[in-house]
Amino acid sequence: MTDTCKINQVLLSLGANLGDRRTTLSDAVEALRQTGTLQNITASSFYETEPFGVKEQPAFLNIAISGYTALSPHILLLQCKSLEAKFGRQKRERWHERELDIDIIYFGNEILDTPRLTIPHPQATRRNFVLVPLAEIAPDFVDPNIGITVRELRDKCSDECKVTLKTH
Ligand code: AMP
Repeated sequence: MTDTCKINQVLLSLGANLGDRRTTLSDAVEALRQTGTLQNITASSFYETEPFGVKEQPAFLNIAISGYTALSPHILLLQCKSLEAKFGRQKRERWHERELDIDIIYFGNEILDTPRLTIPHPQATRRNFVLVPLAEIAPDFVDPNIGITVRELRDKCSDECKVTLKTH
């Protein structure tokens, strides 16, 4: 069997801080399901988070999702980028506003370092806005680089940005 036929669990982080953030995130998850990009999707609660880096911008709404795919990591990235474009994503500098941002945090146990794609996502695993939602849905997932669980990564994380469960 080739790699492209293998089913992998993938963990994604989604965020938005412009427009109707909750609708954007829910519609993006639905689009990942409807297009067959991911199967058996589990989504975390919504979390409101202080922006990291550039502070003068609206708060983000973030979620993490788990799903299963037979796609390769690079094809999955293309699907995520095309979804960002469909939801009106504009090009801006790093750490600025986002209509929709989708990051691939983990792709099974794969470790990848290419010009276009690094997995596990290098910064995301040090950010509360990724780790708090991720620990809700996949606390026992083991980071293949570091060999510790997402729950442990969250508990050890020194990021001071506030992440608040958003219940309404
Ligand atoms: P972003 O600003 O978060 O949309 O990401 C900008 C670029 O980061 C993307 O166009 C990707 O080529 C690259 N990238 C590298 N690793 C990842 C990853 N694990 N998930 C998403 N994008 C990634």
